[in-house]
Amino acid sequence: MIYLDNAATTKICDRAVHAMEPYLNEMYGNPSGIYNFSKVSKEMVERTRATIASAIHAKPENIFFTSGGTESDNWVLENAARYGRHIITSEIEHHAILNKCENLSKRGMDISYVGTDRMGFVNPYELESHIRKDTALISIMFANNEIGTIQPIKEIGRIAGRRKILFHTDAVQAFGHVPINVHEMNIDMLSASSHKFHGPKGVGFLYIRNPENVESLIFGGGQEKGRRAGTENVAGIVGMGAAVEEAMENLNQRMEREIELRNYLINRVLREIPYVKLNGHMSKRLPGNANFTIAGIDGTSLVILMDNDGICVSAGSACSAGDDSPSHVIRAIGIPDQYIYGTIRLTLCADNTREEIDYTIHRLKENVMQMRSM
Ligand code: PLP
Repeated sequence: MIYLDNAATTKICDRAVHAMEPYLNEMYGNPSGIYNFSKVSKEMVERTRATIASAIHAKPENIFFTSGGTESDNWVLENAARYGRHIITSEIEHHAILNKCENLSKRGMDISYVGTDRMGFVNPYELESHIRKDTALISIMFANNEIGTIQPIKEIGRIAGRRKILFHTDAVQAFGHVPINVHEMNIDMLSASSHKFHGPKGVGFLYIRNPENVESLIFGGGQEKGRRAGTENVAGIVGMGAAVEEAMENLNQRMEREIELRNYLINRVLREIPYVKLNGHMSKRLPGNANFTIAGIDGTSLVILMDNDGICVSAGSACSAGDDSPSHVIRAIGIPDQYIYGTIRLTLCADNTREEIDYTIHRLKENVMQMRSM
């Protein structure tokens, strides 16, 4: 099998598996206990908090563990409703943001959806024009999960800071893949998810610059300083910590390797398959992301043909799998209706080889030719 769907999820790294193992069997103490056996679990949870904090240039007390990106995003938006009636977000956010916004709008919140240009960039000045007196939050994703576009986060952060509005970024696709500095970028809140950077599934975190202004989403016990109730997923948190360490130690080399493979793939596809368009920007994109609209094909059928060849790719985002409506991201960047279903996403990781990419291109060419001849 050739796995090229790393935006959907990644393979857990060996370091995370080994780190988790003792916490799945021998070290099962509840971190809330006061005896020594529990303290081992507690210490590991706190060590991971510090590891994550240093990866984004934050303090450990500003990191809160959650069940993943969806929970972190929902928490931020639910909390925003306490501060004002208005939220600004973009048309190309993940459904963890969009569907929660829809839910809030049914409850009386006003949501402004900023559009993007044809590369998928939000214009910070257009965004600024949406700010109102009662704006509680600006939530713009760091990088898009379908087309990989990396947003001008620093500029957006500067505007939010100047206008004294909370700024949240959904960094689920970016954390562990590109450098992030919450101070330099003036980020107040940041969501991330372990399974997107070679950690275990079902665990993630939310960075909160001012936790005293944030109310819990989940009520119960006093875990996470009373802000996120429920016994900690110790093994998951420990595995995520190991995955963060691995990601950060080799960030530059991994980025370089992915960019080289990605550019090789993009350049060959654009050169060797006629009537193909690259979606997103050529360089301001996630290192491992390639997304194409191919005239005369149906993306879902192409995914099935590629699967028959043993290659895992995606037609859009995994979250819209099984849903026949066209991708809201592809629509937002202005792909005309007749091509909108012809989109395919290939997302690499540093472990992919040149041989795998060569075989993928070979099968892609054959399958596109076959579909077009039909
Ligand atoms: N936000 C983005 C940008 C994503 O790509 C995803 C998952 O694909 C999520 C949020 C949801 O994260 P999780 O799967 O951890 O709930």
